Amino acid sequence: MAQLPNNVVPTSYELDEEHALLHLAWSDDHASVYAYEQLRRACPCAWCAGEGNFAGTMTPETVLTPEQTILYELQMVGRYGLTPVWGDGHKTGIYTYERLRDLCDCDDCRQQRGQPARDAAATS
Ligand SMILES: [Zn+2]
Ligand SMILES: [Zn+2]
Repeated sequence: MAQLPNNVVPTSYELDEEHALLHLAWSDDHASVYAYEQLRRACPCAWCAGEGNFAGTMTPETVLTPEQTILYELQMVGRYGLTPVWGDGHKTGIYTYERLRDLCDCDDCRQQRGQPARDAAATS
């Protein structure tokens, strides 16, 4: 889990509906990018991710409907997280800033995880 300095917060976001990508700008000038579906699959709410003895509904085999992977907007949750509002009305997942940075799919973060750059992955 990445530790963020207290003053690092998201400053703005942009929805790229054509490519189904969320762009998130941070106060430390980091520019994050997330595929809608990747973000939805990472939903941390109890219903999707499970809680206690409940396993959760989201598994790698779960087939998502188009509505479930359309991102309408992001809502601020206090000073520590964001809740995406999805096309099917789902908005119970609170993504903390730390989690969002862990999920970041920009080339810099991919490189740190030993993954190929986004462009290379897209053309392979
Ligand atoms: Zn959820
Ligand atoms: Zn990144």
